Amino acid sequence: MSDVLHKARRVLKDVFGYDEFRLPQEEIVEHVCGGGDAFVLLPTGGGKSLCFQIPALVREGTGLVVSPLIALMDDQVAALRENGVRAAAIHSGLDAKTSWRYERELEEGKLDLVYVAPERVLSERFQEVLKRTTLSVIAIDEAHCVSQWGHDFRPEYVQLGQLVDIFPDVPRMALTATADAPTRAEIVEKLKLGDAKVFTRSFNRPNIRLRIGIKDEPRKQLLRFLKDEHRGDSGIVYRMSRAEVEKTAEWLAKEGIRALPYHAGMNAADRKRNQETFIKDEGVVMVATIAFGMGIDKPDVRFVAHLDLPKSVEAYVQETGRAGRDGLASDAWMVYGLQDIALVRSMIQNSEAPEERKRVELQKLNSLLGLCETATCRRQALLSYFGEILSEPCDNCDTCQDPVKTFDGTQAAQKALSAVARTGQFFGVAHTIDILTGNETDKIRQNGHDKLPTFGVGKEFDKSGWNAVLRQMVAMDLVGVDMARYGRLVLTQSSWDVLRGNRKVEFRSDAIRTAKKEKKKLPVVLGSGVSDAVFQKLRALRMEIAKEQGLPPYVVFSDRTLQEMASSHPRTEVEFSQISGVGGVKASRYGPRFLELLRTL
Ligand code: ADP
Ligand code: ZN
Repeated sequence: MSDVLHKARRVLKDVFGYDEFRLPQEEIVEHVCGGGDAFVLLPTGGGKSLCFQIPALVREGTGLVVSPLIALMDDQVAALRENGVRAAAIHSGLDAKTSWRYERELEEGKLDLVYVAPERVLSERFQEVLKRTTLSVIAIDEAHCVSQWGHDFRPEYVQLGQLVDIFPDVPRMALTATADAPTRAEIVEKLKLGDAKVFTRSFNRPNIRLRIGIKDEPRKQLLRFLKDEHRGDSGIVYRMSRAEVEKTAEWLAKEGIRALPYHAGMNAADRKRNQETFIKDEGVVMVATIAFGMGIDKPDVRFVAHLDLPKSVEAYVQETGRAGRDGLASDAWMVYGLQDIALVRSMIQNSEAPEERKRVELQKLNSLLGLCETATCRRQALLSYFGEILSEPCDNCDTCQDPVKTFDGTQAAQKALSAVARTGQFFGVAHTIDILTGNETDKIRQNGHDKLPTFGVGKEFDKSGWNAVLRQMVAMDLVGVDMARYGRLVLTQSSWDVLRGNRKVEFRSDAIRTAKKEKKKLPVVLGSGVSDAVFQKLRALRMEIAKEQGLPPYVVFSDRTLQEMASSHPRTEVEFSQISGVGGVKASRYGPRFLELLRTL
C-alpha cells in the first residue's frame, strides 16, 4: 500500500470513524493526494465530501472548498468540527470581525479546510489572503452550477476556471451529482479540467423505492402514504405552486402531521425558521416548491412525495434524490393525472421562452411521462435515460413489485379520437367519456350526442377505465388538452396516425389500480435483532445532545451509527469507538453518555 493511502485510511478511521472507503473514494483520494486533478461524478449520498476532505487532511496546507450556498457550507463545517477538524466557512453571513479572524487563521496555517463562496474566492481582497496561504487542494463542489442550462446556474461559477492560472500547482477537483452529458462537458470546459481524471460510478440509488401512481384523491392518497408508511419520519412533499404549498401544509397540520410550508414567496425569516426546524428536529414534513432542496444535506430524509409532476427526468432524479442519502430504505412516491400532464404541457407551450427552448422542455416532459407510464421496471427506464444499463429489473419499484399488464389499445384510441373529432373538438374529458360509455346526461341530449355513431361504442371500459386510456393518450400526445379553453380535447398530429390506422398503441391496463392498492410497508429500517425501543432511546439522547449543542441530530451521529450501536450494544469505550461513524473526537466527547444509557438498556 502506498504511503499516502496508508495515511488516508488512518484519517478515515481516526477522524471520521469509518473502516473502509466506498468505491471510488479510495482511488480519488490517492489520485488527488498525489497531486492530480479530478472530476468526480457521484450520485447524491455517494460520499463526495470525503473525496476532498481527506486529501485536505493528508496533504500539507489548507483545503479550499468553493460551495454555492451558505447553508451547505455551515452544515459541512459543523460536521467537520464535531470530528475535531479545524474548519471554517467564510461568507457574507459573518460579521467583519469573525471573517477577519478566519482569514488570519487561514494565513497562519491554522485551518485544515476553508469553505468560501464563489464570488469571494476571486475577489482581490481574498486573493491577497490566499497568496499568503499554502493550499493543499481546491475543490469546487456542486460544479454543475457553471452550466447555463441547468436550474442551479450561478454566474460566478464561470469565473472559477481562472483558479488554474493562479494556483497551477494545487490539485483541483470538481464534484457534482448531475449526470447528463451536456452538463459534464460544460463543467470540463468552463473549469478547465480537460486533463482531470474522471471518476464515476453507477447513479443507481437502490435504497430509494420508486413508485408512481395515478392521482385519484390526492390528499387522501398522500395522507395514507404518510400515516401508513412514514409516521414520525422526515420527508419532503413537493408541490408546483406557492398556493398549493400553503394549502397542503395547512391541511396536513390539521390532520395531525407536523408539516411546514416552504416557498420563495414567504419572507426570509419564516423560510429560514422552517428550514432549520426541518433540519434540526426529527419527523418534520416539509411541503415545498422546488425552491427548497439545494443545500439540504440532511441524510435521513425518509421520503420525497410529489403531488405535482416535476419538469423532467433530471428534475425527478434531483428531487427524489434528496431521500435516503444515508443509504437506508427510503421512498420516492408520486401521483399524477391527466390534468397534471395537460397543465405542465400548456405552461411550457404558453411560456415566454424561445421556441427552441420550448421544444427542448416539451421533449424533456415527454421523457418524464414515458417514465411515468412505463409498464416495465422504472429504475431500468430511469437509468437508461442517463445512458446506464441495469441488467436486471430492480425489484424495488412499483412496476417490479406489482407488475402491470398492457393491451393493444389501438381500437380504444380510435374510438376516443373519433368521439373528439365528431363533436368538433369542443368538449372535455368527462363529456367525451359520457359519449363513449353511452351515459345519457342532459348535456348529451341537449347537444344531440346520443345520436352520434360513437355514442355508447366504448362499453368495454367504465369511466375510470376510459380515464386511464385518455390519460395515457394525453401523455403520448395522441390527443391534446386545450387548457385555455376549459380543457377541451383536441386532435394532434399523432391523432391522425392513429385514426388512419397507421399507428398501433399499447396501454397499461391499470385503470386506477395504483390509487386503491398502495403497496406494503417499507422493509423495516432497522437491522435484524435491533429493538426499536433501544433505537428510540438512543435517538432521544442524540436529540438531547443536538439541542444542547445547537446542531442537527445527524451531525452528532447518523441513524446508521445509532443502529449499529443498538445492535452491537458496546460496553466499553474501546467497543464504542469501533462503531462505524465514531471517530476519535466523538468517542471521547459522547462515548460516556451513550455508554451510560446503553448500560441501562
Ligand atoms: P454526497 O455529497 O455525495 O451527497 P456525502 O459526502 O454527504 O454525500 O456522504 C453521504 C453520507 O455517507 C454521509 O453521511 C457520509 O458521512 C457517509 N459516508 C461517506 N463516505 C463513507 C464511508 N467511506 N463509509 C461510511 N460512510 C460514509
Ligand atoms: Zn424495478
